[in-house]
Amino acid sequence: MFSGPILEIDLDKIRFNSLAVVEKSEECGMEVLGVTKGFSAIPQIVMAMHEGGISSFADARLENIISLRDKGFNHEFTLIRIPRLSRAKHVVYHTDASVNSEMLTIKALAKAGLEMGKTHKVILMVDVGDLREGVLPEEVLSTAKKISKLKGVSLIGIGTNMGCYGGILPSLDNLGLLRDIAKEIEKELGIRLDVVSGGGTSTLKLIEERKVPAGINQIRVGEGILLGTDTTHNRVIPWLYQDAFLLKAEIIEIKYKPSVPVGKIGRDAFGNIPKFVDRGIRKRAIVAIGKQDVLPDGIVPIDPQMVVLGASSDHLIVDVTDSMEDVRIGGDLAFYIKYSGLLSLTSSRYVHISFKEESAWSKRYLPMNQLSLRV
Ligand SMILES: *Cc1c(COP(=O)(O)O)cnc(C)c1O
Repeated sequence: MFSGPILEIDLDKIRFNSLAVVEKSEECGMEVLGVTKGFSAIPQIVMAMHEGGISSFADARLENIISLRDKGFNHEFTLIRIPRLSRAKHVVYHTDASVNSEMLTIKALAKAGLEMGKTHKVILMVDVGDLREGVLPEEVLSTAKKISKLKGVSLIGIGTNMGCYGGILPSLDNLGLLRDIAKEIEKELGIRLDVVSGGGTSTLKLIEERKVPAGINQIRVGEGILLGTDTTHNRVIPWLYQDAFLLKAEIIEIKYKPSVPVGKIGRDAFGNIPKFVDRGIRKRAIVAIGKQDVLPDGIVPIDPQMVVLGASSDHLIVDVTDSMEDVRIGGDLAFYIKYSGLLSLTSSRYVHISFKEESAWSKRYLPMNQLSLRV
C-alpha cells in the first residue's frame, strides 16, 4: 500500500483557468502556449489544459515533450529552453518549434531538418533586459538575416523572456521594443513573422490592463493557469483559481515544545546556522514530508493560523498552536502550492498524484472560492 504525501489535482480548475487565460488573451489578439514544465508534463493536466481551449504547448525540457509524444500527444509543441547542440536531431524530430539564440545550434537544427525532410520553426529570442537568454537588440537583425538564409529551419518569429533572472517586468517599453524589432526584421528582410512572443504569466497583468502593444501575439503561460498566481508581481490573479493543486501530508508527531532549541547551536542538516525567536512553548506537528520532496518555502498551510517552522530531508515542522483545526496523529495537514513547490513535488517519486474530478466540466461557471494565497 502506498502511503506517501498526496498531491491532489483538480482538473476542472485547470480547465477553468486555461479557458479564462485563453479568453482574456484572445481579447488582446494573443495566442496562449500552455507551458507544461511546471508540473513535469503530467499528461492528465496537459489534457485538461487542452480541454480548456489550449491547442499549442511548450516545455523547457525535451524529455517532457518526448514522454508526451510517447503517449500519443501530437499537439504543436515548442521547446522553450535554448536547445542543446548535442540534441539537435531529437529537437527537430520531437518538437515543432524551438526558441533559439545561438547560430551554431540553429545551423545544426537546419542540418537535421534537411536530413529528416522537415522544416523546424525557429523563434529567435531577444534579450530586452532580463539578462537570461536571447541575443541583444542590436544583434537581432543580423542574426535574423543569417537564419532566414538557412534551409531546414524557418524563422517564424521573435520572442522574449522576462521576470526570470533579472526580475524585469514586462512593460509597454520592453514589449514595444520587441514589437518594433519584429517590424524592422519584416521590413529589412521582406519576410513575415507569424510570432511575436511576449513573455509568460507576468504579461497577464498587462493583458488585464489592456496595455499590451499591438503586434505582440503570443504568451507562454504556466504559473497563472496552474496556480492562479503571478510571482513576479507578487500577486494573486483574482479571476483564476489558486487551489487546483493541494498537498496533503500525514501528521506523525504532535508535541508541545519550546520554540528555541536547547544546547549549543551548530549547523543544520543543510549547512545553515538556524535562528530562532523565543515565542514560549508551542504546539508543533511534524508531517511526513521533507526537503527531498519540497522546500518549506514552496508550500503554504491552508489554515492561515498554521506556520511552517522548517524542515529537514524527511520531516516538516508546523506550528499549529493557534489552529482551530482537528490536528491529530494519522490525520493530514493540507497546503497550497507555490511554483517552486510544484516543480519539486511533481518530480518527487515519493509524492503520490491523485486527481479530483468535481462537477462535470461546464464552460462558464464562476470561480466560487477566490482564496487569497499568501504569496
Ligand atoms: C517557464 C517559461 C515560461 C512560463 O512561465 P510562467 O511564469 O510559468 O508562465 C515562459 N517562457 C519561457 C521561456 C519559460 O522558460
